[in-house]
Amino acid sequence: DELEELRGESQRAYDLDRAHVFHSWSAQKQITPMVVSRAAGSYVYDGEARPLLDFSSQLVNTNIGHQHPAVVQAIKDQADVLCTINPAHANDKRSEAARLIAERLPESLNRIFFTNGGADAVEHAVRMARLHTGRRKVLSRYRSYHGGTEQAINITGDPRRFRNDMGDAGTVHFFGPFLYRSEFHATTEAEETERALTHLRRTIELEGPQTIAAVILESIPGTAGIMIPSTEYMQGVRALCDEFGIVYIADEVMAGFGRSGKWFCFEHFDVVPDLVAFAKGVNSGYVPLGGVAISDPIFDTFADVAYPGGLTYSGHPLACAAAVATITAMEDERMVENAAQLGEAVVGPRLREIASRSPIVGEVRGTGMFWAIDLVTDKDTKEPLAPYGGSSPQMNEIIGRIKAGGVLPFANYNRIHVVPPLNVSEAELMEGLAVLERAFTEPV
Ligand code: PLP
Repeated sequence: DELEELRGESQRAYDLDRAHVFHSWSAQKQITPMVVSRAAGSYVYDGEARPLLDFSSQLVNTNIGHQHPAVVQAIKDQADVLCTINPAHANDKRSEAARLIAERLPESLNRIFFTNGGADAVEHAVRMARLHTGRRKVLSRYRSYHGGTEQAINITGDPRRFRNDMGDAGTVHFFGPFLYRSEFHATTEAEETERALTHLRRTIELEGPQTIAAVILESIPGTAGIMIPSTEYMQGVRALCDEFGIVYIADEVMAGFGRSGKWFCFEHFDVVPDLVAFAKGVNSGYVPLGGVAISDPIFDTFADVAYPGGLTYSGHPLACAAAVATITAMEDERMVENAAQLGEAVVGPRLREIASRSPIVGEVRGTGMFWAIDLVTDKDTKEPLAPYGGSSPQMNEIIGRIKAGGVLPFANYNRIHVVPPLNVSEAELMEGLAVLERAFTEPV
């Protein structure tokens, strides 16, 4: 009876969705969205209460899993006291969230501007860089994602940019290091690093350093494929920015807050950015929140001259209460350590084993709870199983198999990403990875 009732409710949710809801990134008449009724921990439940192991963390944001009781309680408690407030006022939860974030960043990144999400964090970071330098251009890499708003999508180096590209966005793209699909004919990581840095230097020189406000990089590109750069590359980018007076913006929206096995992903490379855009994991998306961490020199630009930007919900109390509770829970329950440890001990070895058995797994790469499986039609030619920017019947078949096996995957073009919550258990990982193994070893 209960199941019948749930089915009825789900059908109504679906029908109303199809009648009235306009979806992100979609041809509206060609989608059949799955109804999700509830979620708990590492699982979501579909419209018929069937559990799916969430290997996607939704859009790689529920870093603490679903419905963490301490965070749910913190949101309820805050709702009782103060739901919203003009950002011009000081507020205890916003102050505390800013302290907890700043304490986890290098000392020079001490001021936090809160936004509603990742794209507007990127927008504001870029605006700050432009105002600070008096220059306009922003350099970013191909194979990147920086958000869906006007400036952020034009910075994005992904085919989703094309139809938004109306010119004059002030963006220039360059190739980053990606040895598996090298643009530089490199055969070693050292060669890839050196050539990618030379390419960036030449791009800066030929664009005119005095026209470039910022270089923005995901510390490890996320949606674009989890390509881990070398430490030498990231330090080389930092050095080029210093040499030419360019602001270095780290986009940590997806890679930050423990995803890579460290609080901030740039820590892997021993570099300190000038601005850090964050969102997603800061409060696991329980209430929308993003922000920019600002270094002292850029802060000084706006110390006695107003920053010309703001949002009604900057530092929203419900979102900040969720951030305080999330960061506290991550610390108390050692979630970042768990992600680092299980990533290295379980996900990496198991995925490499799967790769050795599967004819279609070209490469696996990652760290922490941040892994990509690069699927190919042929391991020698590395022909992607779906083109960059597109899909294919084979990819759809693989995604279908994974879902049928009870796992919710994160899929992008020819890749499946393994991006579960940071507090996923070893048993859950083994269960999900077994489903992936079957999906990748049966012929497509
Ligand atoms: N930057 C990166 C690296 C992201 O992965 C995303 C979202 O996936 C964004 C920015 C945009 O964030 P939002 O969707 O919260 O605007």
